[in-house]
Amino acid sequence: MDVNSHAEELASDLGVDKAEVKADLENLLEYSVPIDEAKQSVRRKHGGGGGGSSPTPESVDLSEITTDHGNVTVTVRVLTRGTRTIRYQGDDLTIREGELADGTGTISYTAWQDFGFEPGDSLTIGNAGVREWDGEPELNLNESTTVAIADESVTVDQEVGGDRDLVEIAAGDRGRNVEVRVLEVESKTISGRDGETEIREGVVGDATARLPFTDWDPRPELEAGASLRIEDVYAREFRGVPSINLTEFTTVTPLSESVEVAESAPRLSVAKAVASGGMFDVELVGNVLEVRDGSGLIERCPECGRVIQNGQCRSHGEVDGEDDLRVKAILDDGTDTVTVVLDDELTAEVYGGGLEDALAAAKDAMDKEVVAESIAETLVGGAYRVRGSLSVDEYGATLDATGFEAADDDPADAARETLAEVRA
Ligand SMILES: [Zn+2]
Repeated sequence: MDVNSHAEELASDLGVDKAEVKADLENLLEYSVPIDEAKQSVRRKHGGGGGGSSPTPESVDLSEITTDHGNVTVTVRVLTRGTRTIRYQGDDLTIREGELADGTGTISYTAWQDFGFEPGDSLTIGNAGVREWDGEPELNLNESTTVAIADESVTVDQEVGGDRDLVEIAAGDRGRNVEVRVLEVESKTISGRDGETEIREGVVGDATARLPFTDWDPRPELEAGASLRIEDVYAREFRGVPSINLTEFTTVTPLSESVEVAESAPRLSVAKAVASGGMFDVELVGNVLEVRDGSGLIERCPECGRVIQNGQCRSHGEVDGEDDLRVKAILDDGTDTVTVVLDDELTAEVYGGGLEDALAAAKDAMDKEVVAESIAETLVGGAYRVRGSLSVDEYGATLDATGFEAADDDPADAARETLAEVRA
């Protein structure tokens, strides 16, 4: 039976115009709705009764939906749609996820099959399941769900589509599109769920921020210096910072014009930076209060790179430690404090000598601590401008420094200014 015959049958059953019924049916079929469900939906629309297994739940506004709801019918605008594969009970499933909106609010959704809708579409979604995700209600679109084009376009306040600046990207975002320049990239082999897999990792930037990325389906277009439009990425949290993830569904298009990348990192007060929960690239200015234990000449486990105490690694037991230089300093700007970690190169600059010099000094003094003491003499009480990646966890806030230099401005003044701006 073709659409025409179905339409004819329905039209005569319902006593309505065949052309109208046919248009409705075609709308639904365009969204891959199975013909039986499509016919039920058209019957309901024309008052012919559902005739299906599950009655259509009452229509609700998105703002009314709570995690106590079972199934709902909503009329919404699709804001975003992302695609990815997840492993579910041993099978790889392709799911679509994103946000929907109506005049009253927004809600996240997961579609377990391809209903064919796109950002911007106005839809009536029937019999969608409500589940709790991160404490919030989310819609589950599954095989009992019907998706049809809404009778009227749904007006929403939210931006339709996934285009975002990097500074707007947050962990949990899905179906996002960015225009960026690749700043760093390297290949890496990991042991994934399917054995050894090659991935690419690096850093991308735009005029607003820099963020780390992982390409799970490595493609050659992502080379250092390339300006690209990257569509359909998702963001997840990596050490307190949102990280951009490219999947097999992500599309990458070279841009003819180079994407402008901010040279400087956003400057924040320590309190505001810590409150953000983590930033990939931030600048802080403060006074060094203290150089902590575990600074200066240290030893690392050759297996895992962790700093070891008395030749003992927490994971690998007794090991032959490798010498290295590091600084862990407490930086304070009057709003809060953060632990700043300097790597071997930045430590060498602060110390005024490299590993060989440090080892020689320790040998002369017959005490390794002289290196940390010398660094503390230089740093403590001074004002410094620090740039790097901030992570925040239950142990506190840590900034892995990529830049460290004496500050010419008074950190307390700067912090007061930043606070004043925040309050204004
Ligand atoms: Zn180890």
